[in-house]
Amino acid sequence: MRAAAVPRNEGTGPAATIAGLIRHAEALLSDPDSARLDAEVLLGHVLGVGRVQLVTRADHPVAAAEVRRYLDLVAGRARGIPVAYLVGRREFWSMPLQVDEHTLVPRPETEHLVEAALELIGAHDLRKVLDLGTGSGAIALAIRRGSAECRLTATDVSAPALAIARRNAERLGLRDIVFVEGDWYRPVRGTRFDLIASNPPYVPDAELGRAGLCHEPRVALSGGDDGLEALRTVIAGAPRHLRDGGWLALEHGADQKQPVWTMLGAAGFRARATILDYAGLDRVTMGKWQRAE
Ligand code: SAM
Ligand code: GLN
Repeated sequence: MRAAAVPRNEGTGPAATIAGLIRHAEALLSDPDSARLDAEVLLGHVLGVGRVQLVTRADHPVAAAEVRRYLDLVAGRARGIPVAYLVGRREFWSMPLQVDEHTLVPRPETEHLVEAALELIGAHDLRKVLDLGTGSGAIALAIRRGSAECRLTATDVSAPALAIARRNAERLGLRDIVFVEGDWYRPVRGTRFDLIASNPPYVPDAELGRAGLCHEPRVALSGGDDGLEALRTVIAGAPRHLRDGGWLALEHGADQKQPVWTMLGAAGFRARATILDYAGLDRVTMGKWQRAE
């Protein structure tokens, strides 16, 4: 498809309008499923208005500086940069989270992990909770939202990601979460929790080139050759960091349920269960750890 002509702005002729800019951007963005939405979200971001206002003000003119800013963002999107990075935020569990190139863009499927964690917390009165690999803070912050009594610790090996997580907690007024930097269990050595929740990197290295992933940090996605490296470490270390009868809840790849169940069984986890994501794929597995007799 030929891209629509670049709309002219105030300096060069008839003003570009909101509707004209969106049409222009839509033609530049190749993914037919998301082009319109992306075009609207980016313009709403530049103009500081919501999508409804874009519709009600469709024929309003847009100033030259804003047109330039918008076209820069659209060009970034056309190169595959996630919208969340371009606007600096992403909605997760109905919370606006700040994100940048150091954090994974929180995924809708991770809300299933939060749901599972909150159910376990409610059903078994779990209090001490650990979020391993917190990234933007998505899981820890959502659990804090859903359960005021929990004492939460959130870790990440990435200092810049952890800085974003801390800032998100402050901006959302979600207090009392302890953020600690370091490799998996290292920052919480000697501590036992009631629940460990984690969305570790689980993409096999050969798949990291897959569309949509190449702009996110490798450390947030790479699960090594078989995709299971981080899951192996997190599961193997869990018995030393859970109290007897404590729970582990993990997000994993759609084809990783079997290896995850096997690893959990070998580490002494019982009462395993897997839940499906919005697409009907195996996505979250939990298990209860029982000390050997
Ligand atoms: N929890 C966030 C979410 O669900 O949106 C981010 C999940 S992302 C898939 C995995 C996170 O694990 C990244 O933030 C990454 O920095 C962190 N990570 C990777 N290797 C780690 C390690 N060795 N120790 C601790 N965290 C690690
Ligand atoms: N769900 C992400 C994806 O496949 C991967 C997240 C992860 O590695 N934990 O796009």
